[in-house]
Amino acid sequence: MKLFNTLSREIEDFKPIQSGKVGMYVCGPTTYDKSHIGHARTYVFFDFFRRFLEFKKFDVNFIINLTDIDDKIIKKAGKNQEWQTVTDIYSRYFIWMLEKLRIKMPTTFPRVTNHMQEIIEFIQELLDEKKVYTLDDGLYFDTSTFKEYGKLSKVNLSDKNISKIENVKEKRNPADFAVWKFKKKDEPYWFAPFGEGRPGWHIECSAMSKRYLGEQFDIHGGGMDLIFPHHENELAQSECLLKKGNWVNHWMHVAYLTIDKTKMSKSLKNFIGMEELFDVYSPEVIRFYLLSAHYRTQLDFTYDKLKKAKEQWEKIIRAWYTVLQRMENKTFGGDDLSKEILHEFDHVIEALENDLKTPIAYKYINFMAAMALSNDLDETSTKYAKQAFEKLDAIFAFLPKKSWTKKEGILAQSLADMREQFRELKRFDLSDKIRDKLTEQGIKIEDTKGGPKVKFEV
Ligand code: AMP
Ligand code: ZN
Repeated sequence: MKLFNTLSREIEDFKPIQSGKVGMYVCGPTTYDKSHIGHARTYVFFDFFRRFLEFKKFDVNFIINLTDIDDKIIKKAGKNQEWQTVTDIYSRYFIWMLEKLRIKMPTTFPRVTNHMQEIIEFIQELLDEKKVYTLDDGLYFDTSTFKEYGKLSKVNLSDKNISKIENVKEKRNPADFAVWKFKKKDEPYWFAPFGEGRPGWHIECSAMSKRYLGEQFDIHGGGMDLIFPHHENELAQSECLLKKGNWVNHWMHVAYLTIDKTKMSKSLKNFIGMEELFDVYSPEVIRFYLLSAHYRTQLDFTYDKLKKAKEQWEKIIRAWYTVLQRMENKTFGGDDLSKEILHEFDHVIEALENDLKTPIAYKYINFMAAMALSNDLDETSTKYAKQAFEKLDAIFAFLPKKSWTKKEGILAQSLADMREQFRELKRFDLSDKIRDKLTEQGIKIEDTKGGPKVKFEV
């Protein structure tokens, strides 16, 4: 598979550090306001990418963090509210959006305030290595100690605007940034050997990714706006402690969803909240629309374009139902297009293998839909079409959600119980086989105190 790497600005072959496994960290939201369709673009994209990796049989360890302490959260809380209330409301809103959009839950969903120990230890290491210095209001990373500072964003370090990002006169270098902010009156704080306070923004991802993915991992991503300063600073902190090469192998950034060509953002208040969209459009249509543009191309939002995407999507769904009806009623025709269907499917995968070119993939999906709609498919072609749609759904999650019958639930649970018994007998060959079969059908087994429980994924 080929992927564009922001670090090299080139399309490269993707090679995971550990064969068959992928560690991926995507920066989560700062939870002080509602998530919008711009956020949805970034997280739907990474969900689709994760699904594609899983389709390719990679075992993906996928982390999204939640920034639950930050200046903006404290400011929003003001005097009349607790900061915890603010972050709680908007974290819930974000998770609600992910679930609605059929975004698979990350393997781990770490919150900053649950990881203070890791963060403090990380800062202590930076202090020991003399990478940070102390000013009146906090600890600052000395960017001059990291010779490669700027290598990700290619930022011009003599640009005067850089020092304005964190406007503190006493900083040694314009790009220096806070890793720890000392306690201020009426603000939340945590104890640390270097002084009470709270973390700066960038340190959390360096510390939490280390905890969950180790010192080096495969993919780090987010929206374009994170390249500088957030990811540049994360990289500096992590790489100056890391003794062996790159911290992250592939950096992936999603272009903005804009409105009137301006980035949609919480701070500009030009955003469209998700409930407004879900009122009119199904999650599948919204996903289909968001993935219709290549992830590195800006997508200017208009209701008109969303409506057009819906019309395209409906054609695919009509084709899907035609195929299902043929299967169910056994009303097969005489047109053998099995080779053509396989061919289109291969083209879709080929387009995705080449830096996830979804617009090209859509072209071939449309060809497939047209074949199913305007031909009298025979039995083999119908079966192939059904399989192709189902495989594509595992990647795009664009078909209407499957509802599971009670019978299916009981059968899946019995298999999960059987798997547990095989595990107790140490027959892992058999227990793994059952788990794999269930996973293929979108059924996950969760180990709970009361034994294994099956969970149907969308
Ligand atoms: P924030 O909560 O603003 O830190 O954003 C969380 C994630 O959503 C980051 O990866 C951002 O880059 C991404 N994001 C925010 N706004 C947009 C947008 N308009 N288009 C694409 N991604 C966005
Ligand atoms: Zn981050």
